[in-house]
Amino acid sequence: MKMHELTAHEIRVLLERGEVSPGEVLDSVLGHIQDLEPALHAYITLCPDDAREAAEQACKAYADKSAGARCGTGARCGTGGRDGAGALCGIPIAIKDNMCTEGIRTTCGSKILHNFVPPYDATVISRLKKDGAVIVGKTNMDEFAMGSSTENSGFFDTYNPWRKGAVPGGSSGGSAATVAADGAILALGSDTGGSVRQPASLCGVVGLKPTYGLVSRYGLIAFASSLDQIGPITKDVTDCALLLGVIAGHDPQDSTSAPVQASDYTTYLDKDIKGTRIGIPKEYMGEGIDPDVRRVVERAVAVLRGLGASVDECSLPHTDYALATYYLIAPAECSSNLARFDGVRHGLQTKGRSIEDMMSKTRRDGFGAEVKRRIMLGTYALSAGYYDAYYAKAQKARTLIRKDFEHAFKQFDVLLSPTSPTVAFMAGERVDNPLQMYAADLCTIPVNLAGLPAMSVPCGFSAGLPVGLQLIAPHFEEGGLFTVGHAYERATGWRQFRPALDWQASATPEQGPAPSDPSPATPEM
Ligand code: GLN
Repeated sequence: MKMHELTAHEIRVLLERGEVSPGEVLDSVLGHIQDLEPALHAYITLCPDDAREAAEQACKAYADKSAGARCGTGARCGTGGRDGAGALCGIPIAIKDNMCTEGIRTTCGSKILHNFVPPYDATVISRLKKDGAVIVGKTNMDEFAMGSSTENSGFFDTYNPWRKGAVPGGSSGGSAATVAADGAILALGSDTGGSVRQPASLCGVVGLKPTYGLVSRYGLIAFASSLDQIGPITKDVTDCALLLGVIAGHDPQDSTSAPVQASDYTTYLDKDIKGTRIGIPKEYMGEGIDPDVRRVVERAVAVLRGLGASVDECSLPHTDYALATYYLIAPAECSSNLARFDGVRHGLQTKGRSIEDMMSKTRRDGFGAEVKRRIMLGTYALSAGYYDAYYAKAQKARTLIRKDFEHAFKQFDVLLSPTSPTVAFMAGERVDNPLQMYAADLCTIPVNLAGLPAMSVPCGFSAGLPVGLQLIAPHFEEGGLFTVGHAYERATGWRQFRPALDWQASATPEQGPAPSDPSPATPEM
């Protein structure tokens, strides 16, 4: 196996033994990106120079630890550097382009931020750097994280490594696609209504949305602040536990950060699930779910039963209201959060006759159609006279949805469902039908409304495309997700199946997306 095909925990073993160096791991990943990107288009920006510097630092950390590591040139590293090597030291990671990275362009997938270079790091970024992780680039996404296919990117589409012309899901489509295709060992995404779990499911990788408040949102460009949460996208459950351990825990810079410390989530792996009570909400297995996806999930249920879990049906009766509730609350919050992009302080500025004219033209030119639609919907829902009828009513429905889960968790340790009602669809198939696009989040949105943690784990294939199993736990019970997810993963071994990437060779610029500014990151290394 080539190095870029390994998981973080596998690479970590080699790094510790001094069998490879962080520089060699990075070269393997960057070289593979160069082959992949012309067809995949997962990255908006690559930062090979910063990555090489981080790899050198990581090399010093391993040298300190064991005095045995080699640097990128094959020579032995000198001593010096940080105290010890963190869990992800020397591991190449991709970051969704809505997390601020000091000195590295952060576009949020929007033309309005096409030239924005943040002066500071998001908390997740500073924690990764402190741990020694190597950031390779910033990944494509639906503009301001609004979408389920990455087709709302202001720049270009990203494709699903499993099928030519299929979407990778969204909005963290670039992160999921590149991890699935080994263009990064790990990635971060953000999840407001499913944007980590749904693309993870469509690309056949693991994705976790942590409990609201467990991971700092400081430096995450806000979409809907009461729902947004950063989460890991990884090749397996063990890597997911490692990455969460690095980014989780209280941050005084984020007033919604919970007063909890990160724990070592790897202690929840390799455990028995005999007697674990698993509930299947019947509303998540009925109408709207592709029958073949349902069959695949039912097979996963049989595996869990075989491992000794007890599985029973349950009900979340207010599920029907979840999509409508979300599409009032999320646009309302986004209409207020996105008011700051007015051409004055950063990003795009279109000249105008007056300051109002400049602002309105900047927003006209800078925002795409979906973002404008959400701003209009949200402004309407918050406006005088409609606030009570729409926004306040949605808040009440949100409480009922949260109570449904509280009730279910009196009987069950973990709830289970498909992550997405369908497998990956073809690019262009849903762009003109926003309601069909919104339906992609049927099973994921209620989890965000309730602030719960949930994980998508690969559980098989339908028509040759990956299906994801969603596991949902009570607040701050991520440990239960790791235990059940890992037990399932070990029992099944879906990870052995990898995208053939055979469509790359035939991808021509005509068949691929038409890149606008910025064009897909050209790997010049
Ligand atoms: N697809 C949903 C939306 O468009 C969720 C997006 C997300 O989680 N960021 O709002």
